[in-house]
Amino acid sequence: MPNKAKKKKKKKLAKTAYEPYVRHRITDSDMLALTALPPGVDRAEWLASNTVAFFKHINLLSSALSEFCTTSTCPTACGPGNTIYFWTDEHGRKLKCSAPLYFDYALSYIQELLTDEDVFPTKAGAAFPTGFFLLVQKVFLLLFRTLAHIYWSHYNEALALGLHPHLNTMFAHLTLFCQHHALLESEDTEPLQPLITALRRQR
Ligand SMILES: [Zn+2]
Repeated sequence: MPNKAKKKKKKKLAKTAYEPYVRHRITDSDMLALTALPPGVDRAEWLASNTVAFFKHINLLSSALSEFCTTSTCPTACGPGNTIYFWTDEHGRKLKCSAPLYFDYALSYIQELLTDEDVFPTKAGAAFPTGFFLLVQKVFLLLFRTLAHIYWSHYNEALALGLHPHLNTMFAHLTLFCQHHALLESEDTEPLQPLITALRRQR
């Protein structure tokens, strides 16, 4: 029994020491410097490497909350203002589906694109395809919607898990990156504009 109590205390201390650091990351980061194209770097390469990084992080955040996003809690894929997200299949048909299905389609679609050498070449000097920018825009719209759904439907669970500093940082970084590189339409970001503004004010 005393051993167990000791173990529990140790675990609690470690968590308390870690948390303030994570929370401070939001205001410590210079997001603008992180998003701008570094001198001498090819624009397509910069977009590609950031797309991969954003996908990996958002995929992780989304899977951390996946147990709360089910066909019964979220029978319709939606975002702020109850905007419904329709999935367009390979035949151009619009499908109304549950949130877990929509985001599974979205993240699988992105993963497939990122591992396609013809779209996201990894070999030095390989050319990016025509239409690369349009595909990157599509990927960022799906990533934006993934975070928008978390804010709209799972913010309380994110708070309970202590994920909100990560979520806020990721969202602030993503929206600034998209604004800087003209990746999202204002009609897509509009429902979350008050949050975008509030997160920028904090910097
Ligand atoms: Zn959900």
